[in-house]
Amino acid sequence: MAATILVVEDEPAIQELIAYNLQQAGHLPLCADNAEQALALVHNALPDLVLLDWMLPGASGIDFARKLRAEERTRLIPIIMLTARTEEQDKVAGLETGADDYITKPFSPRELLARIKAVLRRRAPQVTDDAVEIGGLVLDPVTHRVTGNWVPLELGPTEFRLLHYFMTHPERVHSRAQLLDKVWGDHVFVEERTVDVHIRRLRKALQTAGLERLVQTVRGTGYRFSAA
Ligand code: CA
Repeated sequence: MAATILVVEDEPAIQELIAYNLQQAGHLPLCADNAEQALALVHNALPDLVLLDWMLPGASGIDFARKLRAEERTRLIPIIMLTARTEEQDKVAGLETGADDYITKPFSPRELLARIKAVLRRRAPQVTDDAVEIGGLVLDPVTHRVTGNWVPLELGPTEFRLLHYFMTHPERVHSRAQLLDKVWGDHVFVEERTVDVHIRRLRKALQTAGLERLVQTVRGTGYRFSAA
């Protein structure tokens, strides 16, 4: 599944190389030459991951990472720092600002993509291609197929994304606002009851396999996906 990846890098050749490799791997790169541009892009829509150069003109990569971590809306965006620095001290400083990983230049495209995949798996499993299986339900993002107790289920595109998000974030309560942010995209102005409509459709689809109980209503709060 395509991840939107914000590349913040002031060296045009490196930025281009990274963007090219991300595209080849099926991702959607967004490029910024500095922290100000990057901030404007993040303001517009949340990326799934940020590749962040340490040394930038103006505000440094570290400053930008701190800014993302300080705000509620951007706090959880996975960050991989890119740097020419190799000293242990710098690595520690980078990770202390809340970066999820740290890659030293020069790096191979293969290494970069592997690190991205590892961080997404850990931090944003809903944007990876890994099949998920919970409570008799199997969802495969590659084939876009869902089965419940071996029965193929028919899901609309929104129900599919909703179920994928639920299955990669089980056993916790999601408010309608959170689901709108994560499944519909932040800054999308949709009424909260739209969520209820799609939950109903999802449950109806799950009913074919007798698995509608996996999607639970948490009174006054939202919804939970649970096999328990
Ligand atoms: Ca740089």
